[in-house]
Amino acid sequence: MSKLLEVRDLRVRYRTRRGLLHAVDGVNLDLAVGETLGLVGESGCGKSSLAKAIMRLVEPEAGHIRLNGHDITHLKPARLRPYRKQFQMVFQNPSDSLDGRQRVGDLIAEPLALHRVGHRSERKQAVLALMEQVGLHASAYDRFPHEFSGGQRQRIAIARALALEPALIVCDEPVSALDVSLQAQILNLLSRLQQERGVSYLFVSHDLSVVKYLADRIAVMYLGQIVEYAIAAALWNAPAHPYTQALIAAVPQTDPHNHRIENKPILSGELPDPYAPPEGCRFHGRCPKAQAVCSTQAPKLERIAPGHQVACHFPTAVEQPQPVFLNLER
Ligand code: SF4
Ligand code: MG
Repeated sequence: MSKLLEVRDLRVRYRTRRGLLHAVDGVNLDLAVGETLGLVGESGCGKSSLAKAIMRLVEPEAGHIRLNGHDITHLKPARLRPYRKQFQMVFQNPSDSLDGRQRVGDLIAEPLALHRVGHRSERKQAVLALMEQVGLHASAYDRFPHEFSGGQRQRIAIARALALEPALIVCDEPVSALDVSLQAQILNLLSRLQQERGVSYLFVSHDLSVVKYLADRIAVMYLGQIVEYAIAAALWNAPAHPYTQALIAAVPQTDPHNHRIENKPILSGELPDPYAPPEGCRFHGRCPKAQAVCSTQAPKLERIAPGHQVACHFPTAVEQPQPVFLNLER
């Protein structure tokens, strides 16, 4: 598959009153056309900053972002404009991204109007077609976002993101604010739209079970760095980084009769201070396998199997018992 997005050695730091916050620290990622890359990690690990840097919403300090081979890292707004159409974003909370004073039809049409696509009447037809694709009734056209539920608002946001037929949609925790049955509906919708349109997703979430459902490959992020990167099934079935193993163990499991089983997090402690990342492996303070070398030498991301990279001095792929998941039709 051809490469849509390449991220190389990307670094994002924020200057704040407290000092320099290291949000993204030397990240490399690739995304092929029509592929979904899941980006997973605890809140505060830098995944939203990485997503925003890719969207050119925050300025990276170093590194490169290439879209279809074109370096867009430092393009000024006017030069960036033609590329803007190719990547769109869907946020966790649609209420934040949808202007409540605009009617649904105008909200979805806005990107088309901004990029001067079609006449008014053509845009209306395009919007109605989009609404149908995302499962919104045509009567929603003249209503306001606040008249809809969270799940319906997320459908509006997705229709808006699709309007310019982007090659890439960055989804930042798109279902985290929804309850489980609505999550399933939105994930199924995203999956279907991908099959129909060949769009690529960068799917950002703290919830590995959600990411696993959509992603072809998964990158696990810890304190600004990618610590494991693999094909979704390989990462899920045989994770090699102790942090990934802990994330999987912490996924709430359900038994075959659908009763919830107690969640047993084996991850102790909190994410270290991103203002002063620890020396050596950034996970060493929480890692059950840490040894002396871990607190002094930072492990590099290295290949342990085809398509599987891990940043750990002692990587051991551990077969996971297969938990039963949310029963999502696909
Ligand atoms: Fe744990 Fe050491 Fe591996 Fe870091 S390098 S994850 S501390 S074993
Ligand atoms: Mg976030």
